[in-house]
Parts: sequence; C-alpha cells; structure tokens
Amino acid sequence: MERPEIILAPGPTPIPPEVYLAQGSPLVYHRGPGFGNLMTEVAERLKVLYGTTQDVLLMTASGTGGLESAIQNVFSPGEEVFVPLAGFFAERWKQLAEAHGLLVRSIEYEWGRRVRPEDVDAALAEHPVKAVLLTHSETSTGVIQPVRELAEVANHHGALVIVDVVSSLGAVPFEFDAWGIDVAVGGSQKALSASPGIAFVAVSERAWRAHETASLPRYYFDWSIYRRYAALKDPENPWTPAISVMQGLRAALELYFQDGPEAALARHRRLSRAVKEGGKALGLDLFGEGLEDNWTVTAVRAPDGIDADTISDRIRADFGCVLAPGQGPLKGTVFRIGHLGYYSELDIIRGLAALEMTLERLGYPVKRGAAVAAAEGVFQEDVEG
Ligand SMILES: *Cc1c(COP(=O)(O)O)cnc(C)c1O
Repeated sequence: MERPEIILAPGPTPIPPEVYLAQGSPLVYHRGPGFGNLMTEVAERLKVLYGTTQDVLLMTASGTGGLESAIQNVFSPGEEVFVPLAGFFAERWKQLAEAHGLLVRSIEYEWGRRVRPEDVDAALAEHPVKAVLLTHSETSTGVIQPVRELAEVANHHGALVIVDVVSSLGAVPFEFDAWGIDVAVGGSQKALSASPGIAFVAVSERAWRAHETASLPRYYFDWSIYRRYAALKDPENPWTPAISVMQGLRAALELYFQDGPEAALARHRRLSRAVKEGGKALGLDLFGEGLEDNWTVTAVRAPDGIDADTISDRIRADFGCVLAPGQGPLKGTVFRIGHLGYYSELDIIRGLAALEMTLERLGYPVKRGAAVAAAEGVFQEDVEG
C-alpha cells in the first residue's frame, strides 16, 4: 500500500493543510497589486523573524541559491574569506566561495564540534579577511553554532558576517540587527514548513556598500535588481517567481504568527528535549556538542553492530517514516531526526514509537515504550509547570 511519508527529516519539513490549500489556489498574477501585497506581507513577517529593519530579498531558488547570491553580490575575485569548518554545510560555503574564485582560509574541527570564538579571534588577528562565512544550524551534526559570539569577534576585526540560517531561522533565537549580522540566508522549506523553492536574504547597510564595488559576475541573483523591483508601488520580483510557493509561504507565516515567534521557539525547544530524552531512554548515544541548545536536528549514533543507514532504510520500509542519514564522515554511523517546523507532540511520540520497533526488529535490546514514556515525561512536565 502506498501511504504518505511521515517526514522526520530536517527539510523539507511537514506541510500543514492550510499551506497546501493556499499553494493550490489560483495563481495571482506576478505583476500588480495582488502579488505586490503577497510579497509585502511575506517580507514584513520575515523581517520580524530576522529581527531586522533592513531589506529582506525574496528569490526563487533553494537555500543554496540564496547562499550563492551572497557570494556573487558581496565579493570581487581573489578576495579572502574565513570559513570555520565543522560539518557538511560549512563545507558547502567553502566550495561555493572557491567556485567563485575567492581565497578561503579555515580552521577544521571534528564534525559535531562547536566553533570556538577564541579560535576565530586568533585567526583574524593573525590574518584579516573581508568576511566570515558561518552556518548557524549545522544540519549535518545538529549543532547550533554560537553565531552571536562569532559575529562579535568578526565585527571586532572589521570582517563582514555572512550566515547560513536556512535551518535555524524561526526555530532558534536569531537577531540580525542586534548581533551585527551583514547577510543572512534562509529558506522556505525548513522551520517555516512551506514548500521548497524560495530563498530569503537579509542585507545590512555594510553589505550593501560592499555590494556597490563587488565585481564577481552576476545576473539572475543581482541584489540591486531585486531591490529595485521590491521598491515599486506594487512590489515585484524581477523574474517570474514561484508564485504558488509564495502563496503557501504566506499561509505558513500566517500560522507561525498565530501563536507568535516566542511560542514557536518554545515548541522547538520542547520537541527537541523530548527526542533527546527518548533517545537516551533507549540507551542511544546522542551526537554533537551543546545538546541542550540544538533544537533543530538530533543526530544519534547507531548502536554497535548496526549500520545507521540500515535503521533509516528499515524505518522507512516498515513505517513510511523518513529519517535523514549521516553525511560525509558520519555516513553509516549516525542517523538524524529532524524536529524543526510544523510538528506536534504526537508527531514526535509516533516517530519514537516507530524507532523503538525498528531497533527491536534489527536485534537491538529495546524496552518497549521507553522512548515514548521519556518524551511524555517532557511534555507532561511542561504542562505541570
Ligand atoms: C537545507 C539547508 C540548506 C539548503 O539546501 P537547499 O537544498 O539548497 O535548499 C543550506 N544550509 C543548511 C544549513 C541547510 O540545512
């Protein structure tokens, strides 16, 4: 029997019915007041999420397109950037920068580590660079990097701060203006639970000044063109945007703002705790530093003798439940449970129940109900206060 997949992976995340309905409704024409209102509403709400009064540009692209736009719009060939490497998405920054002819300096950490602000401080003191490229939620390891402290260090050394917030915006605290961030790139398909297809980019005054002299080739992603079209009486995208996805994104933000950002952050924290307590109750080893702050993804080491990919294959085959496999050096040794986006307590309970049964079927000694009970403990404790 074909049945809908139960997604417990860090993006795309489950899409609420209101969002499906909105993106299935008739298209609003992309030049004129209808789309203008849509774009304005989406951009205004994103500004609140970013914590900024600056422009937030909307582009039809996956998150990586937004990252590429940051490189193309801020730099000239041969300029230097610093990228602390501690996972798959930090490495993506490095590859993107190198592909555009930038010189990348870096420190390498073991995957699962937090980047140390003092290391970045020492590196920038020894060798100044134009910008530091950071990853807020390192989705490959589950680690939330200390972006606030890292930005402070970079600001101190006069470097621009460019951050991938694709899997963190809306799930963990972030303050674009207050933390001194220059560019932050988000995406529609993670914590906001809209369909994939729209990237958002917040740009500071400093970054706009850097943009004026940046000479890397660009066309589709030229921020100046996006800004000019966004300033029309009825705001537009320069090119035909993913109108349906934008209609869905407006509905997703509407839902997000019904209870407000504070409630959404608290929910992410609570669900993350439930997953982690559930994993521990099964005797599993949780991966990565700073678990209490890592509210988006939980990476779990597979028990000895069981390949992690076997666990994600089996839980999908038996229960239709999609976990994310380990990436890079973690392939086969960890699996990842995503809990960012539109999840409820029962979604988490259901996922943990499926995990228990799957592990038992693979020969791991499971006390039935242990993970579920631990998660219930977290949820009940919150109600009792
Ligand atoms: C998902 C993700 C991206 C973007 O991936 P796309 O597939 O291009 O949307 C970028 N960075 C991080 C940290 C992510 O989790």
